[in-house]
Formats: sequence, structure tokens, C-alpha cells
Amino acid sequence: MTSTPNSPAPSTSLGVDEARQAILRRLTPITGRERVAVHNALDRVLATDVIAPCNVPANDNSAMDGYAVRAMDLAATGATSLTIAGTAYAGQPWHGTLDAGAAIRIMTGAAIPAGADSVVVQEVTTSDGARVTIPEGQRAGQNIRRAGEDLAQGASALRAGKRCGPAELGLIASLGIAEVAVYRRLRVAFFSTGDELASIGQPLAAGQVYDSNRYTLKGALTRLGCELLDMGVVRDRPADLEAALRNASENADVIVTSGGVSVGDADFVRELVSRLGEVAFWKLDIKPGRPMAFGRIGDAWLFGLPGNPVAVLVAYYQFVQDALRTLAGVGPLAAPLIYRVTCTDAIARKPGRREFVRGRLEMTADGMRVRVAGAQGAGILRSMSEANCFIVLAESCAGVRAGDTVSVQPFDGLI
Ligand code: AMP
Ligand code: MG
Repeated sequence: MTSTPNSPAPSTSLGVDEARQAILRRLTPITGRERVAVHNALDRVLATDVIAPCNVPANDNSAMDGYAVRAMDLAATGATSLTIAGTAYAGQPWHGTLDAGAAIRIMTGAAIPAGADSVVVQEVTTSDGARVTIPEGQRAGQNIRRAGEDLAQGASALRAGKRCGPAELGLIASLGIAEVAVYRRLRVAFFSTGDELASIGQPLAAGQVYDSNRYTLKGALTRLGCELLDMGVVRDRPADLEAALRNASENADVIVTSGGVSVGDADFVRELVSRLGEVAFWKLDIKPGRPMAFGRIGDAWLFGLPGNPVAVLVAYYQFVQDALRTLAGVGPLAAPLIYRVTCTDAIARKPGRREFVRGRLEMTADGMRVRVAGAQGAGILRSMSEANCFIVLAESCAGVRAGDTVSVQPFDGLI
């Protein structure tokens, strides 16, 4: 922790990178494992390496439809006529050994017959059904996929810590493996705090707002594959908050709250966490979302996010997501994708904090361009919905002119 329990809130702000480091430094993956069928392994994180029990492909096989031949039979200049001695299909090998002067009609994926060392593609040949004519210019070894060229038996096909996407599921299946060891799902308890929050389905009384943060967080946490404990809305009463925090700490690996971490009279989260556990409370050099608490109650990690809806998402993507990835065994995103692109809008600002402006990245005839996605208030969620990236403005940036190059962080990669 960068501040001891019960220490006063630091008067100086902490940088975004320092806060990320301080969080990630403390976290190690959970130890729980389970075995799951490949069918159910999508998005799960491998807890051990997957070792290839066999070669993939298992045999040398043809990469094309054509004729399997012995390269030494082919004339260096001029065409060669060979006898067609049989046919090899994928899954139905030709079992003989190729004699001098003979060829085997072969289909893509069929095992290369003994004696053959090259495949000539059908399109360059002529045949009357009994004999085939091969033009000059063939290369020994051509058009053969070698046994083990995808994966050699005994090699590590996938490393522990890999999240299983579509390619990984296929790769595991290609090895004939039915079950893999994965980290158990991370259990995350989350709740919203605030006396002003109404739940959807209730009429909105004067001064109330609907609780949206819980839905935002639920979506983000579900995407990450966490097991969720939705604890609803907790009022700004220390006793209620204490009960909720204790309950969450006994049932979850991680607690994520929103609201109640600033310095207002109804902001109790920080004080409670420092009493129940330990807490680093930070005033961060970030916009939107200056305050954030990070700490621990019992065995559970705690992230006390700010209340403003956009600040919740910014803090989630900049701090919480990589922390959860680390705990879940997959590790932080190697390097968040950052692109340098031309911004078509001017952005007024004062230097000081790192700012995450909601942007819309688009491909135009002139290349990639980014524009500002609507009004930027910390409470204006529509900007997040219209955006597909953050425009990241460095602490020292004193404003952007239309046409300037800026850094953007896209929300979604392809894979
Ligand atoms: P706080 O950090 O608790 O002072 O909240 C900051 C602002 O965010 C206030 O305007 C709150 O009404 C708003 N807010 C806090 N929690 C939520 C929530 N769960 N859903 C929507 N708005 C919220
Ligand atoms: Mg509040």
C-alpha cells in the first residue's frame, strides 16, 4: 500500500501509471483450478501448458489435389509420362509403395504414399485415366504438409495463462484432447452506493437517479468471465456499508463498489475499508474520475470506484480490468493498443491530469481519423456508448487543435 491504514488522504495526486503499477505489483493469480471439457472452455484461462500428445498433422500429407510422385523420376527438361498406380483420399490412404515410373492420384489431406516425395498439382497435368503427363519444372518435396509442422509431439502447444479463444479451442481439439485444466472463475462482488439511487422498475422521486453503474459493471465483469455476486444498492449509511463490505469480503475474491469515495459528507467507503482492512486511497491525476480506493478486506481485494458513470468505466478499463486479468491468471494486456491518429476536432483543456476523452475512430479515404464522441461530462454515459475509443491526452497536453495527431486506445481488438 502506498498509504498506511487510517492515514489521511494524500494531498498530492498519483499518476495513472504509478497507480496501475502499485495495484499490479500486489496481485498474483488465484490458486483454484478445475478441469473443463473443451466444449466449455471458451474464454477460460489455461492453468497448465497443453502438451501435444501427437504430431499435428499426424502424417505427411498432400496440400493439393494432384499426383504423388518420386521427384527423381521426373525429367529435368521436357514432360514425363507416369503410370497411375492408384488413388489416395483423405482418410483412405493408398497402402502400397510407389514404384519407379508410377504416380498416385492424390487428394488434399491424403497421406503421402511410401516412396513418394512430391505432389504435382492436378491443374498442370494431363491424364487419360491410366497415365499422367507431368510438365518440367517441378520441385522435390513440393506441396507436402509435413507431419508435426503445426505441432510436434511433446511440444508445448499452448502456455498456461492463455485465454481460450476460438483458435485455441480448435487447436486443443486438433490434438484430440477432451479436457483442459483452467483457473476457476474469479468471484467478484459488486454494489452501488448512494442514497439518491433508485432501482429500475421504481418511479423516480425528486432528486433521484437510476442506478446505472451496477449494470455497466455487470456487463464489463461478465465479459471478463467473472462469477458475479450482484449486491444491489447500498445506502450511504456506515452500518449498511459495513455489512455489505463484510459479506462481500467473505464471499468473493474481489469487491468492486461505485460512489462514496470522494470527500463529501456521505462518502464512507474509504473510512470503512481502512477500518475493516487496509486501504490506499488515491487522488489520481486522471480525468474523469479523480478519487479511487484500492485495498483489501480479509482475503478480498477492493476497488472503490468513483460514482460518476463515465468515471466508473474509465477506472474500470485503466485499472480494474488488468487487475482482474492478473488475478484470473491471464495477466494484464501486454501493451494496451495505442494508435497515433489525426484528430478532426479541437479539444480545449488545461495541463495536469491524464484525460480519457471519448472518441470515435473511423477509417476515411485519407486514413484513420478520430473525432470527439459527444458531450464529455463525467456523468454523460452517452459519450461512452457513441465512442469506440479513448483519446488519451498526456498530463502535459495543453489542448488539441483540429488536425493534431493524438493517441487513441480502441475499445475492442479483433481477437
Ligand atoms: P459520488 O462519488 O457517490 O459522490 O457520486 C458522484 C456522482 O455519480 C453523483 O452525481 C451520483 O449521483 C452519481 N452516481 C453515483 N452512483 C451512481 C450509480 N450507481 N448510477 C448512476 N449514477 C451514480
Ligand atoms: Mg454517493
